[in-house]
Amino acid sequence: MEKSMQTVEVKSMFINGEWTQSQGGGTLRVVNPATGEEVGTVSYGDGKDARAAIEAAHQAFPGWSRLTARERSKYLYQLYELVRSHRDELAGIISAEMGKPLREAKGEVLGAADNFMWYAEEAKRVYGETVPSSVPNKRIMVSRQPVGVVGAITPWNFPVNMVARKIAPALAAGCTVVLKPAESTPLSAIRLFELIAQAGFPAGVANLVIGQPEAVGQELLDNPKVRKIAFTGSTRVGKLLMEGAAKHVKRVSLELGGHAPFIVFEDADLDAAVAGLFESKFRNSGQMCICTNRLYVHESVAEAFSAKLVERLSKAKVGDGRSKETEIGPLVNQRALDKVLRHIQDAQDKGGQVVFGGKRLAEGEYGKGFYCEPTLITDVTKEMEIAFEETFGPVVPMMTFTDEAAVIEMANDTPYGLAAYVYTRDNSRCFRLAEALDYGIVGINDGSPAQTQAPFGGWKESGLGLEGGRYGMDAFLETKFVSFGM
Ligand code: ADP
Repeated sequence: MEKSMQTVEVKSMFINGEWTQSQGGGTLRVVNPATGEEVGTVSYGDGKDARAAIEAAHQAFPGWSRLTARERSKYLYQLYELVRSHRDELAGIISAEMGKPLREAKGEVLGAADNFMWYAEEAKRVYGETVPSSVPNKRIMVSRQPVGVVGAITPWNFPVNMVARKIAPALAAGCTVVLKPAESTPLSAIRLFELIAQAGFPAGVANLVIGQPEAVGQELLDNPKVRKIAFTGSTRVGKLLMEGAAKHVKRVSLELGGHAPFIVFEDADLDAAVAGLFESKFRNSGQMCICTNRLYVHESVAEAFSAKLVERLSKAKVGDGRSKETEIGPLVNQRALDKVLRHIQDAQDKGGQVVFGGKRLAEGEYGKGFYCEPTLITDVTKEMEIAFEETFGPVVPMMTFTDEAAVIEMANDTPYGLAAYVYTRDNSRCFRLAEALDYGIVGINDGSPAQTQAPFGGWKESGLGLEGGRYGMDAFLETKFVSFGM
């Protein structure tokens, strides 16, 4: 296990190229969810700090947006190199402040680096178009320009990569940024911004404000200098931001909650399906918006599948994320643990059978953290909270089915539409399911579909707009039509 760290970062806002503290002098303690130990104290601000950061971003915008794409690209490449070479350090910070196993945290950091590299490249490919005119004395030109100052709000579950996925395309497009990271994970954002400073980005291009969510959020919404809100988090807050953005018709990109179905057909490779489910359900302790929330297994293979799953769960190593053996870390805080335990209890009260796990882990060292046993519940019905509300924890609720059309209907019967998973060896069925599922991301025989270059975004109440690949650039660009009279 790596040594525990304790940092005091009172000057933790990065505004206009300077490290400063909150104007009101507030501070926030950051706690390791594996041990309850404090890992740092940071400045904690409010709307006033956000206003200063927005002003800096506004001042920096003309210079940054007028640089050639090639010049902006150089800074992003530099940042890519820095993030990659600081992989282990960043991973240690992520793990210490939100509990993620180190192996996963390292993967996250490499994912973030990959985003900086991808958008260093994509910056150079913001193409326009000429369109044939219907009259001889006019020419139509279509070009793309950066939307302006971006307010980015990110969650704690991927404290480095969620930031990268927003600021990399924003900066590549020529936007300037004010980032508000989640309260639980400011240290990862601070370290990333130190690397941004080291990469030499001009002052004001990227600003960091750690502060009270409602106050900072309100300033980002109310201040007309912000032209775009890019958010990842709960559907509840996403809706609030969308409502607030209406006042100035700000552009919004929203990556919100999900309730992913995972469907195992009778012809599936059950070992591959168990491995895919483990990946999609237990990575980050089940705290991902694309995590499986409902498992549907064909009745004829349900027993065999659950036996294999129980075998896998019984081998899963739960523990402090900083330990090398850990596969499943703690939940992020008491509130998250309480919700998971409430869902388990509710399922049991309504007839669900806990066939593995089901309890808080509280013995010995576990007692200091927010640990829940990896859990499998069978006999789940759609009346149970777990069958329609996002659990965000290491619990698999299992249902059975016999008919393809019926399972598609059940899978789509939710206001969410982020990710869905299907395991089958029937090629025709692969295509039928890929087309019939009302989800933005469908993993066919793939429990871990996200990649930098692919579009990532939800349908229905799971979001608006896309991150990833060339699609991710669109969120930060406006389209301009210029008509030349001759
Ligand atoms: P979670 O429940 O997973 O923490 P949230 O949607 O509450 O999800 O949080 C995601 C991000 O949104 C965090 O950075 C959080 O501080 C921020 N946030 C929460 N409430 C608001 C709000 N009213 N306005 C702006 N940002 C908010």
